[in-house]
Amino acid sequence: AGLMHDSSQPTSDALLGGLLAPDIRRKSCLSRYQSISYRKSSLHKPSPYLVSKLREYEKLHKRCGPYTKSYKKSIKELVSGQIDSSSNCRYVVWLANCGLGNRILSMTSAFLYALLTDRVLLINEESDMSNMFCEPFPDASWILPEDFPFMNQLYSFGRDYAQSFGNMLENRIINTSTELLPSCLYLYLSHDYDHHDKLFFCDQEQAILRNIPWLIMKANIYFLPSLFLMSSFEEELSKLFPDKEMVFHHLGRYLFHPSNQVWKLITSYYKKYLAKAEERIGIQIRIFDNKTSPVEHVMDQILTCTDKEKLLPRVDMGKSIVAPSGKGKSKAVLITSLVPYYYEKMMNMYSKHPTLNGEVVAVYQPSHEEEQQSENNVHNQKAWAEINLLSMMDVLVTSAWSTFGYVAQGLGGKKPWILYKIENKTIPDPVCGRAKSLEPCFHAPPVYDCKAKREVDTATIIPYLRHCEDIYWGIKLF
Ligand code: GDP
Repeated sequence: AGLMHDSSQPTSDALLGGLLAPDIRRKSCLSRYQSISYRKSSLHKPSPYLVSKLREYEKLHKRCGPYTKSYKKSIKELVSGQIDSSSNCRYVVWLANCGLGNRILSMTSAFLYALLTDRVLLINEESDMSNMFCEPFPDASWILPEDFPFMNQLYSFGRDYAQSFGNMLENRIINTSTELLPSCLYLYLSHDYDHHDKLFFCDQEQAILRNIPWLIMKANIYFLPSLFLMSSFEEELSKLFPDKEMVFHHLGRYLFHPSNQVWKLITSYYKKYLAKAEERIGIQIRIFDNKTSPVEHVMDQILTCTDKEKLLPRVDMGKSIVAPSGKGKSKAVLITSLVPYYYEKMMNMYSKHPTLNGEVVAVYQPSHEEEQQSENNVHNQKAWAEINLLSMMDVLVTSAWSTFGYVAQGLGGKKPWILYKIENKTIPDPVCGRAKSLEPCFHAPPVYDCKAKREVDTATIIPYLRHCEDIYWGIKLF
């Protein structure tokens, strides 16, 4: 670790093949330059077109971002409610909802939407999100200023909000021929959105949005794959992402750099426990229902998977370790879970009994928070540290359905072995399988053909959009 000294220029590798802008002060965000010493560098370079698009975006963000002249003008437009063509900046404001994995995936989707529509992305950072990420864009902030005029209203914005785009379409308050458009619209793009909210994914409805300067988006889903089905974005997306499987990998590595505070947690843990091992295996365990997936079943599933896929050695339960052996390959297992059960079982197994092949296995778990507490900043910092640690592992085993795991796999560039979901206490057969694409799964895709105006399986329209390995109704890019 620590390949570079503070005075040296970042190498092109450290800037991820041009993905990162070179002109951000190193000390303000150490992880930006140091990640490359921990995470494997990507075999997949971003396209030159994506790189130039990002540089262009950064200029736009600098011109229109908070506290600029253009921003102040646009705020006036927002407050007046009327579109004033003299201000030439347009925005997407993203509002949080749900856990960290969901937040990161929906922010990435909102960013790609902003790139495609020449808008500036602003994040409403509530206190639970503070000190998590570095500012991603040079000389500008992506945090929505606290004096944003409708700050108080943002909290009440939900599915039933009368001024949401979906409800306005449904109640025919707005349509493609509306002449006097408002200066602001609310988009509800969360897991429980309805048919009219999903018309966001239709080219025709996008034409309405094009002229509205302020879009306020409440999102908690990875809706980005569905943008690939829209003809208005088709050409641009094919230039930006010749390799469809790498969208989150590039955009995630571009946007999400741990703050110095979180980076310290990550690097000190890594150096203390993981650095010395010859191979590092991350096992991410996320159980959505303890009743249908009892811990014993999950433990069985994990061990069957790591054995079958030859990720970890078996132990001889009949023998005890007398003296520490140091002959075989050393492996470190990083377990992440809300509970300590799996760590304790596995740690006991490998510390008490010798392995059959002589490998030496050490097991670690950074935290066990017991319950999800997404409104708690320290809890979120731990979760973010663990996602990053997972992304630094050589091999990944993840839990089906979990966006926490998707973010780790995408940032790390590692296709995981997915532990398929246990239903009704039945361990699936096969217990796990290798992901075929690095992309996260979109759990709640629209199933509507905008032109034909009828239901369609959106995983059957273009070859690189198919159903996910872990959720059959979800879709992902391949
Ligand atoms: P998902 O629910 O698995 O899709 O992932 P999310 O990240 O959206 O929400 C789960 C939240 O629960 C995380 O953000 C954490 O706050 C917490 N959590 C779940 N698993 C872990 C874990 O292994 N470690 C830590 N520290 N937190 C976890």
